[in-house]
Amino acid sequence: MSELDRRRFLVAVAATVAVTGVSWCSAGGPKETVARAEVPGSAPSPAAPLLPPLLSPPDRASRVLLPGGTVLTKLPGNGDLLAWTVDDGADAEVVRLYTQFAKDTGVRLTYFVTGSYRSWTEHAALLRPLVESGQIQLANHTWTHPDLTKLSASQVADELSRTAAFLRNTYGVDAAPYFRPPYGHHNAEVDRVAAELGYQVPTLWSGDLRDSAALSEDQIVRMALQAFTPQNIVIGHLNHPAVTRVYGQLVDVIRARKLRTVTLNDVFLRPEIPYRTSQPS
Ligand SMILES: [Zn+2]
Repeated sequence: MSELDRRRFLVAVAATVAVTGVSWCSAGGPKETVARAEVPGSAPSPAAPLLPPLLSPPDRASRVLLPGGTVLTKLPGNGDLLAWTVDDGADAEVVRLYTQFAKDTGVRLTYFVTGSYRSWTEHAALLRPLVESGQIQLANHTWTHPDLTKLSASQVADELSRTAAFLRNTYGVDAAPYFRPPYGHHNAEVDRVAAELGYQVPTLWSGDLRDSAALSEDQIVRMALQAFTPQNIVIGHLNHPAVTRVYGQLVDVIRARKLRTVTLNDVFLRPEIPYRTSQPS
């Protein structure tokens, strides 16, 4: 993106904020937001992209209890939080670049891992410290990405259990209680089997980068302008490289709107129903 394009983009972000800011901006008015977003002096040169650190997550004491059995689509209440989640991991290079992006900016992400992709083994060393610090949370997106509603109960259990075991063994974490059914397809039987394994929270979304298909960079940015709004759970994908070339613009949207990125563990205490411990087996 040229400097001129970038300035035009920042002005476009500011305009969007100005139009929608009044209804959601909880801290600071839209005027302030516009003034900040229109400052072009901070635009980076292409050789040295500026990815400034993002706002910190809320204090852990403000976490709320998420009752078991909830289908999660959005964060509760009126706030300034954005739960940016990314799925699958079909392209190992995209997993690497997303993780490096998190490392560079402090953006907090939840990865819904499809365990059979080699990305998750290949980039474990890069990812592990961010998982251990809590900046990136790992959740369960099955082993082979099937439509769970078309499987038997034992096949559903196998899909979730294999990824659970992989995440325990590779990262030492318990991905429960969050699982995302591929394609968002689930039903009472899928939820029952999942809950028996500790996955009591089918996690869907309220905003979508629509990059499960190979979108252009501009399309992804346009989707982010729609999706990055307060309290949204946004779904993106670790499958196509276009998103890795627009990180600067995506961060600009988050900064201009004064959103705080959060993992699900930043927002919720675990359900009171007992679940498995995170001891590697
Ligand atoms: Zn998926």
